[in-house]
Amino acid sequence: MNLLPFEIPLPVALAVIACLGYLIGRGSRAKAINDADQARRELRRAKAVARELEHIAEGVRKNLAAHHLSIARFKDRVTELGSQGKEAAWQDLCKEAEQVLKPTLRLAEQIAQTYDEIRQQTNHLMTFTEVRTDPLTRVSNRRGLDETLESMFALMERYNQPFSLAIFDIDHFKEVNDKKGHLQGDRTLQAVARMLDEAVRDTDVVARYGGEEFVVVMPHTTLQNACHFADRVRLGIGSGLGLTVSGGLAMAIDGDNAQTLLSRADAALYSGKAAGRNRLYRHTGSDIEPVIALETASKDGVF
Ligand code: GH3
Ligand code: MG
Ligand code: MG
Repeated sequence: MNLLPFEIPLPVALAVIACLGYLIGRGSRAKAINDADQARRELRRAKAVARELEHIAEGVRKNLAAHHLSIARFKDRVTELGSQGKEAAWQDLCKEAEQVLKPTLRLAEQIAQTYDEIRQQTNHLMTFTEVRTDPLTRVSNRRGLDETLESMFALMERYNQPFSLAIFDIDHFKEVNDKKGHLQGDRTLQAVARMLDEAVRDTDVVARYGGEEFVVVMPHTTLQNACHFADRVRLGIGSGLGLTVSGGLAMAIDGDNAQTLLSRADAALYSGKAAGRNRLYRHTGSDIEPVIALETASKDGVF
């Protein structure tokens, strides 16, 4: 390993790329947002990402500075010992090397962790970019969803972080188009996307999965808590928009990939449709079961 300072480490380079990507993506996206509330929400989300990146970069900077010092000391000692030319000097050298080894390993570990943290933030930044955004609803498109899930599975494998996913499908949406026209249908899709976007946490990702289907990816969320969230959304859409939605939920388990997870949630959604719509079903990994009336009291503080 090259101990001498300093090439720019990969995480720092990634952070810079992520920031540039954000600035470019944000610029073009901003043009299309004319809803002031949505703009404010996006700004808040962007600030949270910027804060997190700043925090990560600061941590790396401090650790690199400390490490720089211990390497400089080591280099001085090696030069000193070399000029003395004594046999015993090599024993001293071993001790010095030992001393510098620990912080070096710690730094390597921290850089690996930083890499994951930056990937997660990059993931959030990606949701601002045009190519990953659904033009009608301004939430993530299918490509954004695929990339989010890829990153969620990488984090789950490495850190055992649970995450859940919900698919919502508007009931009898064809009738909205047929009765009120396609334009009104489009507006309804935008309103549903906005409601989802407002209901989720900053770390969740909302995506348009198909015509009138939306997916919400919820990091650090158990199946039970995802059900609480989904029920709140179902009721909110019902009372706010006069529509009903059905939903299917699943939590990622060992051996899953994006396709298996989505198809479990999809199977649960199908059960909701078959059982009469306006309801949620969840896939437990082995069974599909209805999400039965959840107490209002438990809706707060579960996320
Ligand atoms: P179900 O309760 O079984 O989900 O019935 P549904 O009518 O919602 O489902 P179906 O799959 O039969 O119809 C979905 C409709 O969504 C048909 C399609 O025209 C409409 N749709 C898909 N994308 C868009 C869009 O971008 N804008 C509008 N206005 N309609 C869309
Ligand atoms: Mg559908
Ligand atoms: Mg539908």
